Amino acid sequence: MTKQVKARAHTWYEVDYNSGTIRFLRRFCPRCGSVMAHHKVPVPRWHCGKCGYTIFEVQAPEKPAAPAQAKSSARSRRAQPKSQ
Ligand SMILES: [Zn+2]
Repeated sequence: MTKQVKARAHTWYEVDYNSGTIRFLRRFCPRCGSVMAHHKVPVPRWHCGKCGYTIFEVQAPEKPAAPAQAKSSARSRRAQPKSQ
């Protein structure tokens, strides 16, 4: 009856035992502050399961002339400058 769920919080961190540092591998939601989930299919993106905020990592590499997309991706830091 009780579903067995493995503890996965340790997968959020990467521990460097040589230098004694802990690196957080996930991102926090800019809207609500929760830990976001990373999905690779169909497009790589960060998604917040709490409020639904989504950050797309890459913007359609097939079409270089991509117009402004959804309003939720206004904070795209990964805008790549066009090389001429
Ligand atoms: Zn959120």
